[in-house]
Amino acid sequence: MSPAATERERLTIVIAAFDEARALPALQPRLAAVMDQLSADGVEAHVLYVDDGSGDGTWEVLRSIADGDARVALLRLSRNFGKEIALTAGLDQVTEGAAMILDADGQDPPELIPRFVAHWRDGYDDVHGTRISRAGESWAKKATAHVFYRVIQRLAKTPVPADTGDYRLLSPRALDALRQIRERHRFMKGLFGWIGFNRIAIPYERHARIAGRSKFGFWRLWNFAIDGVTSFSTAPLRLATYVGLMTASMAFVFALWVIGKAMLYGDPVAGWPTMMAVILFLGSVQLVALGVIGEYLGRLYEESKQRPLYLVRDWRASGEVPHPVPQAASDRLAPSVGS
Ligand code: UDP
Ligand code: MG
Repeated sequence: MSPAATERERLTIVIAAFDEARALPALQPRLAAVMDQLSADGVEAHVLYVDDGSGDGTWEVLRSIADGDARVALLRLSRNFGKEIALTAGLDQVTEGAAMILDADGQDPPELIPRFVAHWRDGYDDVHGTRISRAGESWAKKATAHVFYRVIQRLAKTPVPADTGDYRLLSPRALDALRQIRERHRFMKGLFGWIGFNRIAIPYERHARIAGRSKFGFWRLWNFAIDGVTSFSTAPLRLATYVGLMTASMAFVFALWVIGKAMLYGDPVAGWPTMMAVILFLGSVQLVALGVIGEYLGRLYEESKQRPLYLVRDWRASGEVPHPVPQAASDRLAPSVGS
């Protein structure tokens, strides 16, 4: 819904940061400039940094950033929960106005935010940036990302736009919808598609990191991809059925051949190599199928435990007067758990 023209719109820029102490000081001035520009345009912009359990002094850097700009709010999680949960924690706090998600490393240029806002004003609920190029990323990462987006698009029943990350603006009603989804294995790109509403893509060129290095190595991306597939598709489970049907029909033909041969030419003991091949093949197919079932079962188990999604260690609202941050977060009226 487009907000009423009379009241000032509110936008919170949510930034998950894990060990970004070197990148954040370079990003903040760019954000401040964009917020000034938005303010002139009638949008009251704020930033909410979520420190995802960093161990490199990110929290101290964030505190000094907040000291210098009253529009900055901070949230610190009790440990590293991963980007998807950190974003959830941040978005949970946005109870008024729209939210804009941005990476802390400057890969998503903040200068484009006014374009996202313009689409929001046109009535879009999910304005997402689609990468037309990715600077500073390895050939292998680009290639695997390319394949991954095509696979997930085929498997998932809800749209997962290709080459689209978390750089996006969500309208208040999209945020409300997202807040109702409390699953633990959160494949955010899929969840954004799941909620639906009016969606539009903004093509952009992804920059190289300002500083530091990517936290998503090959192994982490692989696990992320498995999370994506298992959260949005049960096709791998069905695949086991089809492989079973296929091997069963092959086994039937093979059995006919073996029986026919035995009847025509007698039954000398032979065929050890074939037997070994068949046993090994079927054994491995069964193990793979068990593994696939295990992936789903494991996720079911984790969901059933109903643990909170994250815990908050400390927080600081925007416009708060600088003060020494207490060590124990429990004595503050903080939003401490996200169930
Ligand atoms: N991030 C996070 N928690 C993590 C890993 C990453 O909050 O456990 C943040 C990180 O600080 C950055 C964003 O997620 O703002 C994207 O991470 P990164 O740049 O490492 O990923 P890439 O851009 O290489 O995919
Ligand atoms: Mg990055």
